[in-house]
Amino acid sequence: MSAFKTIDSLDVAGKRVFVRADLNVPMKDGAVSNTTRIDRTVPTLKELMDKGGRVIVTSHLGRPKGKRNPDFTMKPVAEALGKALGCEVKFAEDCVGDAAKAVIDTLGDGDICVLENLRFHAEEEKNDPGFVAQLAELADVYVNDAFSSAHRAHASTEGLAHKLPAAAGRLMQAELEALSGALENPTRPVAAVVGGAKISTKLEVLGHLAQKVDVLVIGGGMANTFLNAKGVDVGKSLCEHDLADTARKMLAMAEEAGCTVMLPVDGVVAKEFAANAANETLDIAAIPEDGMILDAGRKTVAQLRAKLGECKTVLWNGPLGAFEIAPFDAATVDLAKYVADLTKQGKMLSVAGGGDTVAALQHAGVEPDFSYVSTAGGAFLEWLEGKQLPGVAVVRA
Ligand code: AMP
Repeated sequence: MSAFKTIDSLDVAGKRVFVRADLNVPMKDGAVSNTTRIDRTVPTLKELMDKGGRVIVTSHLGRPKGKRNPDFTMKPVAEALGKALGCEVKFAEDCVGDAAKAVIDTLGDGDICVLENLRFHAEEEKNDPGFVAQLAELADVYVNDAFSSAHRAHASTEGLAHKLPAAAGRLMQAELEALSGALENPTRPVAAVVGGAKISTKLEVLGHLAQKVDVLVIGGGMANTFLNAKGVDVGKSLCEHDLADTARKMLAMAEEAGCTVMLPVDGVVAKEFAANAANETLDIAAIPEDGMILDAGRKTVAQLRAKLGECKTVLWNGPLGAFEIAPFDAATVDLAKYVADLTKQGKMLSVAGGGDTVAALQHAGVEPDFSYVSTAGGAFLEWLEGKQLPGVAVVRA
């Protein structure tokens, strides 16, 4: 049984179905330049149309800051959605009021329309009750398919769910099931791999994960802060020296929680942060004072492979090194391939997301092989921080 209400719980035939989607797509010269977000929400829309719903699709696009702005119109998005669905998609010049109602009134069962940008109204981001009431007038039921906006309590992501029967769309459902499977009730042992530049941006993520997982792998620039806190001289490496105390407290807390923290034992060291910079692999105890650790070394990767090989669930956020510049992508690529292989063999559930993680996994060529890769940056990270996301709370069963 799902812990979330899904569209299975809604009777949509002949009903006006308000869908909050994430169609905040990249635009170039007035046209949609990447349709990934559209494509991902299509199964939800198709299902609702097939069931006879009168589907009203809404989203924000860019940051028009509460004002009508033709640069951020949803019109080209409606056209791109029409191509993806292979059917007519009507368009309403406003997301509330007479303009919206006039178009919605023309919908028959199984028809679909797109409303203009929700953020042309400042009340959307303020979760204004009057605006929520105006949205509620347009529909009979509410479906949220925009996990990536679920960390915001806006009118269309939170307020409206209190006014209409509400459920998660299929994309949101997939995201929630993947995240719950990895963090709320994972098959153990469960490991988290947390990498990236700095610990200052991920203190809450690390603090929450240390309480939840059996193994916490710390990699990337942030590992240097922990090594430094343990008395290792990291030379010129990226390091938050002022957070040494915080890092020590974090390690003590993890130990108390029975979480094994894994830090690098060797690193790929260069004198400059540049592609193909001359480099050597050195033990962590032997970093020269003018050296920078830009990637995890082979011994570290071997240890991580051995440890992750014992795990049944892996949650991944952040690269193990400066993966954008060769050859400092090697550890990230190697470990990502290993996790992808174990996933393909059915030995592991692997969930990744947040920040540069999607780019790193794409670079490694393994994005399709992970069990689930979330493209919801901020919402994914807030979930890892253990926060209750307002847009998720309202679709909990
Ligand atoms: P984040 O946005 O916090 O996930 O950090 C991702 C960034 O961290 C990427 O741009 C990486 O190049 C960078 N990074 C990872 N490891 C290192 C390192 N050892 N030294 C410098 N930058 C790094």
